[in-house]
Amino acid sequence: MKPIIIPLSMSSKYLIPCSDGYLQVDTGYELDYPVYRKQLAKAGIKLNEIKYLFLTHHHDDHAGFLNELTRDADITIIAHEQANELLKTGKNDKSHGGGYVNGVINFVAGIKMRFDPRWTLSFPPFNLREKDSLVSAVDDQLLRKIGIEGRILTTPGHCVDHIAIVLDNGDVFCGDAAASFLLALGTRYCTVFMTNMEDAYRSWQKMLDARAKVIYPGHGKAFSAEKLKENMGKVKTENLVRFF
Ligand SMILES: [Zn+2]
Repeated sequence: MKPIIIPLSMSSKYLIPCSDGYLQVDTGYELDYPVYRKQLAKAGIKLNEIKYLFLTHHHDDHAGFLNELTRDADITIIAHEQANELLKTGKNDKSHGGGYVNGVINFVAGIKMRFDPRWTLSFPPFNLREKDSLVSAVDDQLLRKIGIEGRILTTPGHCVDHIAIVLDNGDVFCGDAAASFLLALGTRYCTVFMTNMEDAYRSWQKMLDARAKVIYPGHGKAFSAEKLKENMGKVKTENLVRFF
């Protein structure tokens, strides 16, 4: 069964059926919430059918409307253990370095940041709750308990608190661990911003070892896992264009 895609500004969110409703992969920017509600209605899904929110990582365009979502629906969040502190700061983590994947992206992102009010690299702080689930290693049980045949992998490289879902059928919900966005500008299936390329490619290998077939990224359209093999190692950590 194909996942339901909820398109938001610059990113896609996915709904995976679970035993009592849906698990949603990520939220969007804080400002995306009204659009999200509209897109959800357009897909014929009621907000109270969303039972779980799988947070691939803490960034502004993935964690932006967690407050609104948990205010309006009874949702359990699944996140990386390290997301706990990062979400409280309300800022994309800058303590582990990182940069844009090449000079062209650096130039384009500089312009975008100047004119797009959403590009602040910050978001409303969020405190994970007692009922939320934190993972810190590969987890083969959590998703199965809620009726999803798949496992959770830790996938650092884009940022330290990154996790992804690999279903037994080969569908991968990779968040920003890989992307098919701005490929013409040489992103080589990476997200525009990366922290550590050695970690990132180890994460790609983990997904391939878990028999990944189709990658559903946070940014861009679904693509074949073959692309990860073909582009492995193409971007080097030392070539990232640092901006903090
Ligand atoms: Zn991100």
